[in-house]
Amino acid sequence: MDLNAPDRTLRIGGRPLPVAGPARMYVCGITPYDATHLGHARTFVWADVAARVLRHAGADVRVCRNVTDVDDVLNQAAHRAGSPYDSFAAVQQYYFERDLDTLGVHAVDDQPRAHNHVREVIALAQGLVTSGHAYVHDNAVYFHGADVPALPDDEAHALLAEYGDEPDDPGKRHPFDVAVWRPSRSGEPAWPSPWGPGRPGWHAECAAMAMTTFGPSLDLHAGGTDLRFPHHAYESAMAEALTGVHPFSRAWLHIGMVRRDGEKMAKSTGNLVLVSDLVPGHPPAAVRLMLMSTPWQDEWDYTPDALDQAAALLDRLHTAAGRPGNSPTAEATVTKALLDDLDVPIALRIAEEEGARTARLTMQVLALT
Ligand code: ZN
Repeated sequence: MDLNAPDRTLRIGGRPLPVAGPARMYVCGITPYDATHLGHARTFVWADVAARVLRHAGADVRVCRNVTDVDDVLNQAAHRAGSPYDSFAAVQQYYFERDLDTLGVHAVDDQPRAHNHVREVIALAQGLVTSGHAYVHDNAVYFHGADVPALPDDEAHALLAEYGDEPDDPGKRHPFDVAVWRPSRSGEPAWPSPWGPGRPGWHAECAAMAMTTFGPSLDLHAGGTDLRFPHHAYESAMAEALTGVHPFSRAWLHIGMVRRDGEKMAKSTGNLVLVSDLVPGHPPAAVRLMLMSTPWQDEWDYTPDALDQAAALLDRLHTAAGRPGNSPTAEATVTKALLDDLDVPIALRIAEEEGARTARLTMQVLALT
């Protein structure tokens, strides 16, 4: 090890994230009920970039990306398709992984599925009840959440309602309490528990899967900005309440939403662009490049032009990479940009200008070859 080597610490949100052992990275995965659209793809491509940059910095990275296969929208979609929820989820999961593989997203080390971690959710619920952080009411276990929202009460209330946490449920002691465990409605999957047959709450699922994989804390937690509240806020709060280890995650990578014509790309909005719509006519690396062409924190508006521009930039990068020569200074500047909050736009600009080995290094780290 060269002790005089420059600092190769990744900064996220301007704060250094030094790691001494393996870097533990948890990516909040999909609910496998529909095809992969650009909103999903951007989140998972950026999470992949973060893991690759950490590896480039010399870290040994272990990535866990869960599958939320116990969920209301999945149950409804499986019901409409006339399939059991688990086989329906397995088929959707296959298409999702195929799309991510096409986009150059590295296979993850761990891929826990929620339905295999019901026992850990029950242990989490029992632990939270025992330690006074949760209570039992009508066969459900609710987490005391009054202090969780770090946003105005009316906004927290609206978001909890939007994400199915039922703030107006009269069984709760406080509207901001959320279910760790709840009884299943008819037709929903159900597992035996000390509180009767039921199923895990969504936030509790991720807390249980993350702790099963990594223990009480993580180095980096990734997911879309729409998961910041309530999902990640409650996932963290439950884990911290159970273990006493703060913070649950040392850093967060909340990737900005994808929009189309000014509206969030979402199934409910009906404005989806699927990865499989774009790939037949364009190199997958151009789609990947397009998704990382604006900073990860920012919202990004998809336009067909953006894909043409990315394809043109990819061509220029290939041409530049074919030039002979090398510039250790430019390579160091690319590395510095990537470590500085994953500044891919600057790294790409330097790669294009310098060409040669600098361009090859950039394209290799970002998996654009
Ligand atoms: Zn999650």
